[in-house]
Amino acid sequence: MFCVKCGTRLPENDVRCPNCGWDLGELALSQRPEINNGMVGALLATLLCCLPLGLVAIAYSSQVAGKIAAGDYRGAEQAAGKARFWTWTAVLGGILFNFSGLMVLLHSPLL
Ligand SMILES: [Zn+2]
Repeated sequence: MFCVKCGTRLPENDVRCPNCGWDLGELALSQRPEINNGMVGALLATLLCCLPLGLVAIAYSSQVAGKIAAGDYRGAEQAAGKARFWTWTAVLGGILFNFSGLMVLLHSPLL
């Protein structure tokens, strides 16, 4: 992040410019990025696809809001990214699991 007044590079999470004293507090608050925590997808993946993998996605997803509140946007983005990754892993795992289950069922001598 850079100071909007003098362009000085600011320390991570700092809201006051060390060079010119410009207070970025208000601006930082208004410019807080909207980070999709992916919780809806994680919950759906958990319920519909693969419980253990979906739980990993939920765990990462639940970290996003806390990191945003702490001003750790990079950490929030990383947690959201991991949540998305595990959500899709759960979806693919669920599809493969259900598909193989279907194959077993179709080849079952019971049918
Ligand atoms: Zn400045």
